[in-house]
Amino acid sequence: MKMVLYHHFHITVQEYYRRGKQNLFPLFFECPHPGCLYHKKLRSHGYYQRNALTIYGGFIIFIKRYYCPCCGRTISLLPSFLAKRFQYTLSVILFVLFRKVVSGLSSRLIIERLKRLSGRFEFSTQHIRFYRRRFLANLPLITGFFSSKEIVFTQCNPAVLIRQIVCYPLPRFTEEYFSFNACHFLE
Ligand SMILES: [Zn+2]
Repeated sequence: MKMVLYHHFHITVQEYYRRGKQNLFPLFFECPHPGCLYHKKLRSHGYYQRNALTIYGGFIIFIKRYYCPCCGRTISLLPSFLAKRFQYTLSVILFVLFRKVVSGLSSRLIIERLKRLSGRFEFSTQHIRFYRRRFLANLPLITGFFSSKEIVFTQCNPAVLIRQIVCYPLPRFTEEYFSFNACHFLE
């Protein structure tokens, strides 16, 4: 399986796109693959391109890859505003989840709002249902993550957790959650 790491670049999607291959990519001095004991610098292994769909339009951005000369496996470094296999950025997904779960809006109304913000949105009710399902399936892990940060909830309430993620704020949550659970919070 291709390994993905998340990195918080502290810039917007637009800025990440604008900098292209000149983004400040970190260096790694050990291999993150389980069982590999390589403790030297990982090699650069080119880039690939992928979509990052935001409310204000889509960007085709570069994703950097690294290579471990010891185990021969590669690592992709995703900016923390994205999740693997999700075309929309996490802020779009959180925008949707917040309105669905916290505000209790209907999917139809959410899609209307998205369309008003962005003329070219191809969002469907299936998207919303899928994100909601992924989020609910991960509630125990998300609660566990917050407990490890001494943010304890008395009950597993999805709306409360979404508010907490938004306040954390989201990019920091994504990155720290990944180091804690070794997966993405919607995976
Ligand atoms: Zn390795």
